[in-house]
Amino acid sequence: MLKFEESARIIASESRYVAGGVNSNFRLGMGHGPLVFTHGEGAYLYDVDGNKIIDYYCGMGAMVLGHSPAGVQAAVKQQVEKGILFAGQSPVEYEAARIICERIPSAERLRFGSSGSEVAQAAMRLTRAATGRRTIVKFEGHYHGWFDNILWSTAPSLADAGPAEDPNLVQGSKGQSMADAEGLDVLQWNDLAAVEARLSRGDVAAVLMEAAMCNQGAISPMPGYLEGVQAACRKYGTILIFDEVITGFRLGQKGAQGRFNVTPDLSIFAKAIANGFPVAAIVGRADLMDMFATGGVLHGGTFNSQPVPMAAMVATQQALTPEHYERTSVYGTRLREGIKSIFAETGIKAQVTGYELMFHIGFGLDAPARNYRDLAHADKAGYARFAGALLRQGVRVLERGAWFVSSEHNDDVVDKTLEAVRVAAREVA
Ligand code: PLP
Repeated sequence: MLKFEESARIIASESRYVAGGVNSNFRLGMGHGPLVFTHGEGAYLYDVDGNKIIDYYCGMGAMVLGHSPAGVQAAVKQQVEKGILFAGQSPVEYEAARIICERIPSAERLRFGSSGSEVAQAAMRLTRAATGRRTIVKFEGHYHGWFDNILWSTAPSLADAGPAEDPNLVQGSKGQSMADAEGLDVLQWNDLAAVEARLSRGDVAAVLMEAAMCNQGAISPMPGYLEGVQAACRKYGTILIFDEVITGFRLGQKGAQGRFNVTPDLSIFAKAIANGFPVAAIVGRADLMDMFATGGVLHGGTFNSQPVPMAAMVATQQALTPEHYERTSVYGTRLREGIKSIFAETGIKAQVTGYELMFHIGFGLDAPARNYRDLAHADKAGYARFAGALLRQGVRVLERGAWFVSSEHNDDVVDKTLEAVRVAAREVA
């Protein structure tokens, strides 16, 4: 049983300088406190208590190649020697752009940024400028960053969320006000009729969605849903944006749009695009993207296309070959199926849903969730207990139920994980 006393001591003492001891609220943890790590290698993280932990946070989904991949590190070291920030262009950003435009179906042109939250903002501004309309439709349970104008209905309580057919906009943080939600509307996801009805009013600039809902849960689009939304968008002059910040480079080399064969007008990427380096991208139709250059739509950022993360990105993308996905998918599928069998053996009622390199466990659910409302009935406290038990066995998983798998989670790591899952499942069953 692992102990985390040194982490707890450091967090308590450093909270004097860093609010809560962490630099993102999503690192506060629920059951156990935040951990302090010294280094990461492959599928493992090493902490200040001397623990070696199998990591399924994978940098909140970013580390698709695992920790410290040699190719990415070498590229970064080489680039650092050449310079850090030019406030101008460098060949490496064009190489990075070319790879994405050749890979991602919707990417005729792109612009780089540094975080998913930031490129979501760029997408919203661009669609409002292009359509002359104000309203952005988003979906309950979908997360597109932490800024005031979009952090709405990401994880509302069912009491606050109101009727499913006309959900309330529910703020995600104190400090927001209804004025921030001006120009935003929220719908249930996976309900095509709701989208068609809303778009028919003719005032919607954009529909913004995770093409597979992965920030909360791991929920697939219903057959025909994405195609139907795309058709409705075309009919009513609305721009379709896929947020691929999680799905990009996890559901396949071409993202969710390649996997589901539906090409949106715009998409945003971040996280796994550069295996943990701060790179994000807004990509899409040339006529829309060119508005950043000649259409009076401002997009800025001191750190955009900084050459060091760009070098990391090129190396990451070079490693994300079809062979990578084939090999890694075998591990992910084995892991998922193994977990399901253990839950069946130990009598734990749970739904394990999602994809090879990203899946979700919902305790207490009778059937796979189709939307946020279904997911909201999961036994979160029970799962948090399971996550705590797993951590004490040396396996770190997000308490919200997500598991991120990297190319380093090989058969040996999967075997060790399943042993830990068996022990933790018995503990909480
Ligand atoms: N979109 C989705 C689907 C996300 O999961 C996240 C982050 O978790 C974001 C956007 C925001 O990205 P970032 O944390 O890089 O700002």
